[in-house]
Amino acid sequence: MLTQALLHDSLKYGKCFTSLGKSADYIPELARINKHRLGVCAVSCQGEILEEGDSRIPFTIQSISKLASLILAIRDLGAESLFQDKVGVEPTGDPFNSIIKLETKTRPFNPFINAGAITVASCIQGANSNEKFQRFLEFIRKLCHNCDITLNESVYQSEKATGDRNRALAYYLKASGILEGDVEECLDFYFKMCSVNVTAVDIACLGAVLANEGTCPFTKEKLIEPANAKAIRALMLTCGMYDGSGTFAMTVGFPAKSGVGGGITVSIAKQMGIGVYGPALDERGNSLGGIKILEYLSEKMECTLF
Ligand code: GLU
Repeated sequence: MLTQALLHDSLKYGKCFTSLGKSADYIPELARINKHRLGVCAVSCQGEILEEGDSRIPFTIQSISKLASLILAIRDLGAESLFQDKVGVEPTGDPFNSIIKLETKTRPFNPFINAGAITVASCIQGANSNEKFQRFLEFIRKLCHNCDITLNESVYQSEKATGDRNRALAYYLKASGILEGDVEECLDFYFKMCSVNVTAVDIACLGAVLANEGTCPFTKEKLIEPANAKAIRALMLTCGMYDGSGTFAMTVGFPAKSGVGGGITVSIAKQMGIGVYGPALDERGNSLGGIKILEYLSEKMECTLF
């Protein structure tokens, strides 16, 4: 069982590791963040909240946004068509921003690597990037049960100014006929969705919605079809931690999605969501202190999937 004391101990343990990682430096605005921050929050499917440390410090959602955009694209296009024509559901074993498989495969391997997420972003309905972003913002606010979530303008500008690798992926996808529509509009939306500010409490709630078969524990509103919540938890387990997904499944054993902002959202079916924040990243782009907190909790709670 998860208690306040256990959460406290997990944070203390996680703190031993923050000096070993570094904050993402390929996005200049992220490089400036204090890497020793660490926070954790758990939200149960009944709506109870436990939190410790820097759980209310805002950070950019980055790749965790790919959960929300995927749900929107499934709504707009239908799961069958999206996974058949646009993006696969298999892990790659390659880094999150890898370009290497695009030439040999017709569609990106999964929706959580950047190539897949940019493709998914192109499938979301909206006349332009602003309209798409407004839909995204409204939805992420519901998923996180926080109507104050907004764009971090300086991180967005920083990503947009330096995101040439993502630009390369998007233009390649356009040339292959996978990405439709205007590439720059699609990228603008993608950079914006990665740059919204959230807290560990917010992403714990997102994990709890997925754990609660798509229903918000606080408002009881059904936000995701149960079958889609299940499919997304499966994708989180196999692809959610990039090329560290296999190791994470062995050492932690929870479905999770990380972001280079330092967040990880975890979803334990029918039990809880957990959000961690620690901007010191390992070499794969996953929060180092965050993973250590989750390793600790998984061992003590004895509730890994395996
Ligand atoms: N905005 C980041 C990028 O596209 C997201 C990557 C991540 O969080 O892993 O590079």
